[in-house]
Amino acid sequence: MNRVRCLVLNAALGPLDYKVPEGMSVEPGQVVECPLGPRAVIGIVWEAERLPGAEVPAEKLRALRGLLPIPPLPAPLRRLIEWTADYYCAPLASVARMALSSGGALKGPATTIEYRLTGGLPERMTPQRQAALEALEGEQATIRELAGIAGVSEGVLRGLVNQGCLEPVEVDCDRPYHPARPEFAQVDLSDHQQAAAATLGEAVKAGAFAPFLLDGVTGSGKTETYFEPIAEALRMDRQVLVLLPEIALTEAFLSRFEERFGAKPVLWHSSLKSTERRRAWRAIANGTAQVVVGARSALFLPYAALGLIVVDEAHEVSFKQDDGVRYNARDVAVMRGAFEEIPVILASATPALESLAMVESGTYAKLDLPSRFGGAEMPTIRTVNLTEHVPGRGSWLAPPLVEALEDRLARGEQSLLFLNRRGYAPLTLCRNCGFRFQCPNCSAWLVEHRFSRRLACHHCGHETPPPETCPDCGEPDCLVACGPGVERIADEVTERLPDARVFVATSDTLNSPGRAAEFVTLVESGGVDVIVGTQLVTKGFHFPDLTLVGVVDADLGLEGGDLRAAERTYQQVAQVAGRAGRGSKPGEVLIQTRHPDAPVIAALAAGDRDAFYEAETEARRMAGAPPFGRWAAIIVSSEEESDARDAARRIGDARPRQDDMAIYGPAPAPLSLLRGRYRYRLLINAKRSARLQDTIREWLSALDHPAGVRVGVDIDPYSFV
Ligand code: ADP
Ligand code: ZN
Repeated sequence: MNRVRCLVLNAALGPLDYKVPEGMSVEPGQVVECPLGPRAVIGIVWEAERLPGAEVPAEKLRALRGLLPIPPLPAPLRRLIEWTADYYCAPLASVARMALSSGGALKGPATTIEYRLTGGLPERMTPQRQAALEALEGEQATIRELAGIAGVSEGVLRGLVNQGCLEPVEVDCDRPYHPARPEFAQVDLSDHQQAAAATLGEAVKAGAFAPFLLDGVTGSGKTETYFEPIAEALRMDRQVLVLLPEIALTEAFLSRFEERFGAKPVLWHSSLKSTERRRAWRAIANGTAQVVVGARSALFLPYAALGLIVVDEAHEVSFKQDDGVRYNARDVAVMRGAFEEIPVILASATPALESLAMVESGTYAKLDLPSRFGGAEMPTIRTVNLTEHVPGRGSWLAPPLVEALEDRLARGEQSLLFLNRRGYAPLTLCRNCGFRFQCPNCSAWLVEHRFSRRLACHHCGHETPPPETCPDCGEPDCLVACGPGVERIADEVTERLPDARVFVATSDTLNSPGRAAEFVTLVESGGVDVIVGTQLVTKGFHFPDLTLVGVVDADLGLEGGDLRAAERTYQQVAQVAGRAGRGSKPGEVLIQTRHPDAPVIAALAAGDRDAFYEAETEARRMAGAPPFGRWAAIIVSSEEESDARDAARRIGDARPRQDDMAIYGPAPAPLSLLRGRYRYRLLINAKRSARLQDTIREWLSALDHPAGVRVGVDIDPYSFV
């Protein structure tokens, strides 16, 4: 082969052909340096017949510059990249980029210099030096990373190097990980667990594509159960990928994994240090990373010998990526399993309706864990009707919930209050003129965060300190908070139960694996009486002394136009309820609601999951919604309002007229301004048989738009903002 076709990692360029220089041998999947103008870009050698491109005459071809010192991307991964790009209407290059997501790893073996404390003190102590010395205890990283950890400038740290307080250490960037051992600490499984684990273990041995839904109630021991097929894969020298929805959950997972297998798994998520990233990437690519635990981005890495994929809490919405390539990691995981010819386990206590439909149709096998491990009972669930039990003015906890909290406090047991709203209050306004604080970049209210004294936009991150006077009318001390966030609920708890030790658990307070670990230790040691938390604490945590769960406002999730609102409410409340009574003491759940008769609330109170799924299935069938029909969204955005509107209109005018598709819009998106861009949406509801993606591609590719207009396609959307 003296010419090759390359997929270059630049979405604006199509595939490019190159000449293979004398003496170089290439094969598909190899990562290469491609000359482009005066520079070079990274490309992946691809099968020419699978990647249509312009036929350039041989004499015009430029020669490849070189091969990168990494293994070729395996064929199943290349097929996955093609499938993802095709299914989600995304550029191939953007998907391929996710496989090569460590710049450092592509450069080959290396050593690096990291620094650590020597224990020495500087001749002259400054507050910054002091802070750095305290913050860097036990850390070893590059100067740049240490500066980030300590919150001081790199200059301060260089000063400490000169003073001999920090010393350089040469480290091999690719030093191997501690091996996980399948027989390290085996556990006795219950009969149900044993049956499921045996089936899964056989599937790993068989080494064929086999999707499973591991459907187990909260506390049934899904993790212990899927550890067994992981052990089987380890015995066979095959790699395992475990996808978790939140990095806050990884810490608890890591310690359980270590107890079982005697070593930590390899971590992969977006906030890894660059050195950790490259080490993990290279170990994944050369097969020495045995078990990888990661966020959705771990799905596209070039595993050398994948043998099993586990998606834990598979119903979680956070597996859906909402910008860039809009893919659902749960669904792509199943496709990866198909291409790799390996089993895939989706574990959940509240599976998505789509997953249950796959079981119905015989595509997925279902394994049930119907009871909690160790004889723990499911909690009792009661609704508190807020129209009967009215909380006092400016408060949100109704008397029955307050009594239940007092009761636990008196017994030395723990409680969890769930409200899916970060901050103190979702809206702040001026008492005098009614001015509302809005984000300058988004059509959203600024959320007051009282602990950190700021008003923040939860969409773009814009922040401002709360002003002393109203920016509109100039009145001093006039700001009032409207509605509750978790911080305000925490205040109310403190007011009513002055002796209670309260912890607010949100992505603001549990923003790193370390913080999450501290939280777990604190709760486990009995240092907290009442946790007030967002969806972050609804799953994964196992606190035996936690016996009361209060859902502050179960109606919140039902507002808004989300297609899956009822399902999401059901899942969130069932998950958070599942935190109660996991030990020997029985658990109780109180759900505050204004609509105790709404089908989803009634099903929760009755503990009747089947009733909920039946009602929801019927509603979806009537609406032609997934899994009975399909949805897609087109999002048009621009910094110029008129450009966005006109482009959306042109797209709307060019809509295909087909019987198997209904197209709604364009209309301003609910979040009509996001990060400074004006947004319009079209919504497509298609029959299952429709050629949805091809139709959208043909439709959109025929249109041109002014520079600055972005047109995004969201297949199987979750968020309708
Ligand atoms: P789930 O994920 O299904 O909610 P977990 O996997 O968190 O449940 O298990 C609940 C608790 O029971 C955990 O503390 C777990 O360690 C324990 N457990 C489950 N199965 C076993 C077992 N076979 N042996 C010992 N402990 C177990
Ligand atoms: Zn904003």
